[in-house]
Amino acid sequence: MASPVLPTIQYTPVEDIPARVKNVRTTFFEHKTRPIEFRIQQLRKLYWAIKDREHLMTEALKRDLNRPEYESYVGELVMILNDIIFVTNNLPKWAKDEKAADIDLTFALMKPTIRKDPLGCVLVIGAFNFPFLLTFGPVIGAIAAGNTVVIKPSEVSPNCAAVTQEIIEAALDPSCVSVIQGSIPETKALLAERWDKICFTGSSRVGRIVAQAAAPHLTPVLLELGGRNPAFVTKRADLRLAARRLLWGKTFNAGQICLSQNYILVDKEVVDQLVVEFEKAIKEYYPNGAKASPDYCRIINDGAFKRIKEMIDNTKGKILLGGSMDEKEKYIEPTVVLVNSTDDSLVSEESFGPIITLLPVSDLDEAIRIANDVDGTPLGVYPFGTKDETAKVLASVRSGGASINDSFMHASIPTLPFGGVGESGSGAYHGRSSFDAFTHNRSVTTTPGWVERVLSLRYPPYTGKLNKYRAASLHTPNFNRAGQTTYGLFGWITWIVTLGGGANKTGAARTAATVLVAIAIQQYIKRGAKL
Ligand code: NAD
Repeated sequence: MASPVLPTIQYTPVEDIPARVKNVRTTFFEHKTRPIEFRIQQLRKLYWAIKDREHLMTEALKRDLNRPEYESYVGELVMILNDIIFVTNNLPKWAKDEKAADIDLTFALMKPTIRKDPLGCVLVIGAFNFPFLLTFGPVIGAIAAGNTVVIKPSEVSPNCAAVTQEIIEAALDPSCVSVIQGSIPETKALLAERWDKICFTGSSRVGRIVAQAAAPHLTPVLLELGGRNPAFVTKRADLRLAARRLLWGKTFNAGQICLSQNYILVDKEVVDQLVVEFEKAIKEYYPNGAKASPDYCRIINDGAFKRIKEMIDNTKGKILLGGSMDEKEKYIEPTVVLVNSTDDSLVSEESFGPIITLLPVSDLDEAIRIANDVDGTPLGVYPFGTKDETAKVLASVRSGGASINDSFMHASIPTLPFGGVGESGSGAYHGRSSFDAFTHNRSVTTTPGWVERVLSLRYPPYTGKLNKYRAASLHTPNFNRAGQTTYGLFGWITWIVTLGGGANKTGAARTAATVLVAIAIQQYIKRGAKL
């Protein structure tokens, strides 16, 4: 079958950018995107524009990354399409006003609510490695929340950028959503404009440029950045499982994944066995070698190829498996390297390629110390070991997310928020979080005229009002000056009734205790005691 004809990327003239942005910004203030029905309509149209162009998306991913159709489908298409269905189904519920929780009666009269308002006109800058998922993901949230949007797909995957534009223009109202194509000059021109939020996916280096550009207007930023993610393999881990799963994390998209483990902290007693398992797993995945396999991607461009090659050339570590490359094809074999220092570039820099770096450690404590010493908080951590060991890693090492006994599985769960922390970014999206990321929770009260009598307490003159206010407003704390929990009468009754708070106590024991407490209270009251 002949390959489908793809649109070609055309850079937007830099001088056109301010007017294009103004147009989309103006639409926001015309309130066109406010009605929920409009947003749902737009997202439904987007669904079908994507569905009808699956073949173009697959072909574009093939040309830009030599991505196998299977990886394109599971890594992008199905996630985007299901996300639209999930968001459109839930949007009416999420967009509804929310009542304030736990409020006093006087405040209840003012109907305190949280209104879900759109932020305004937002900018979404995509990355090259999952060019559709990382662009459409935030765009779905931004549209659902009622914003107008300007999209800048990554120029590094040009075929995907052109298909993205075709999809957007086929589906969405051009006065509400617009695509700007280009590279650094065009991105700079966009960043010079005023935005109500910027969502950027890319490196921490450019993330800093984005945050600086946002600062003059106090624009909030959602930064989805890279991470030098550690995996942990203890001597009690299932090594075959660890090798298969961590190999998957570094060969899917040829390891060009922000979430892939950058290095593996492995107990020195099991390094050799783990390497044997990696060797077996590589043979299982690619029986005729990765190069001949239709299931193995290529590196995005010459620059990225050279960068990864240099990392391998410069390492002081020892290549244990793989290591072959083909510059013409931008092919890099899955390569296992044993390093002995955190200073090694394979640990200190993000490889963003199919390099499996092993750093032997004496025990889990040393592994945790190293993970915390390597500069920057990772996007993900991947501990393999016993339940206690993996729990210890989770409690001791910060990260955007974590997959226990796996590689980046957490990011595939559509209803879990996806995002980094510290150096790996701020903010999150996916599912409900995508809506929240582009929504302003606006607190609103409505004070009826007839409560004026009650409210007169707040007006001067204040004489004689403070004690009344105190009596009416101050709550009783359930803690003392030492920070310990204190139990009021109700607390004690609950404690006794549940015989120490145990939900595991039997129903009969609880009933007996309740009866006893009730009798005791009755006697106490009879004797005229003040409760
Ligand atoms: P990048 O930061 O190099 O480039 C992203 C975009 O920023 C480019 O398309 C370009 O248009 C723009 N840009 C580059 N330099 C700029 C400058 N000086 N001024 C203004 N704009 C500029 O990222 P990349 O190469 O596309 O992607 C790789 C990085 O992204 C890795 O670090 C990876 O970990 C990270 N990433 C993170 C996530 C996530 O969700 N957290 C996802 C994918 C990739």
